[in-house]
Amino acid sequence: KNRKILGISSTNALELGIDIGSLDATISSGFPGTISSFRQQIGRSGRGTDISISTLIPMQNPLDLFYIHNPEQLFGPIQEEILITLKNKYLLNNHICCASKELPIKLEDYISFGLQDENFFKERLEDLISESLLMKRGDKYYWKGDFFPSKRYGLNDLSNRSYKVILRTDETEEFLTVEDESFVFRDLHEGAVYLYEAETYLVEELDLDKHLVFLRKANVDFYTQSLRHTDITPLEILSEKKIGISKNIEVFFGDVKVEHEYYSYKVVDTITQETRSRFPLEDIPIVRFETRALWFLISFEYQKELELEGYDLGGTVHAIEHAMIAMAPALAQISRWDLGGLSIDFDPVRQQPIIYIYDGYRGGIGISESLYYKLFPLLKLTFKLLESCNCSSDDGCPFCCMSSRCGNANSPLDKKGAIFLLKKLLGIN
Ligand SMILES: [Zn+2]
Ligand SMILES: [Zn+2]
Repeated sequence: KNRKILGISSTNALELGIDIGSLDATISSGFPGTISSFRQQIGRSGRGTDISISTLIPMQNPLDLFYIHNPEQLFGPIQEEILITLKNKYLLNNHICCASKELPIKLEDYISFGLQDENFFKERLEDLISESLLMKRGDKYYWKGDFFPSKRYGLNDLSNRSYKVILRTDETEEFLTVEDESFVFRDLHEGAVYLYEAETYLVEELDLDKHLVFLRKANVDFYTQSLRHTDITPLEILSEKKIGISKNIEVFFGDVKVEHEYYSYKVVDTITQETRSRFPLEDIPIVRFETRALWFLISFEYQKELELEGYDLGGTVHAIEHAMIAMAPALAQISRWDLGGLSIDFDPVRQQPIIYIYDGYRGGIGISESLYYKLFPLLKLTFKLLESCNCSSDDGCPFCCMSSRCGNANSPLDKKGAIFLLKKLLGIN
């Protein structure tokens, strides 16, 4: 404030609450994920009456490039919804445990938990009785567990399957961090390269029985990427509707079971990005979880048109799936890694191509539910992203429809097919 420092480089810690009237300029290194954060960042300059300037340097991802190509979107009304779900049974069970440790719970407390459905609350209490964590006396439910629930359950804990990551040196073994099972199977299998706090490690051993991962520091010029099969089974449809100008998109929202099977991993050269070798992954158990998803069907008529035009159907739906996930953070305050997706060019039950977008957390956290109601705007943004990216390859690029976490190594992808189909779905000529 007394003008001794010319500039300051900081994390987003200075995004809020800093008021230095004489600050002339801000430079954001990468889009911060949400427009609200972006506006907070650029709002650090120009707090006086002088003109100020703000610069955004995009990083290598679709959302950053989308805003560079569509800057007007940065200044309109904010569409990002803040998602809170009170209906995740796993989270709710944890919350009830913590609350019951403080005071016994009554059935009518469901209102205090923000719920409208008394039965849903009752089912949770019964769940916890059957797990010997609660007991009922009269009309009250008492804590019965032999541990402190608030110590065991984090505020947003959804998985009880975590692994300890241990750093090995020649003489010692020391605890490094904890990672969730789904992350461990994907990125901490034997032979995997692991990045943690700017250091590179190589995984030596994954102990599935004891839930331990052993790794060593390593200086390597490659990274690893695992490949997987994903299966989705709808368990219950909670809502369905037809959307689009001619009601041409049949969309569903409901409970699904997701299964990931990791079967192989690639070793990729950091500089050339070329695959050096591939190894099988044999002992990794299948990851199974129930969550919520939205899914929609591609009608037979559009399939035929795609085929007539020579587009690849599988590549088309796969490209749309990736690009939709990349654009979802424009409509909800999430990261694209909070979502998973699956595209199928021919579903044997429905006999149609299907695109699934699901919450990447057990029980779901309300993202796909929100996107179910915003599917049309999401498809519009997806179309804009693909159309405005000027890459010329059929496969697209990391700024539009490629995803660094694709379990199928971004194959097949057909960006032009995706643009063609989105035009049909959205009624654009
Ligand atoms: Zn592209
Ligand atoms: Zn993919």
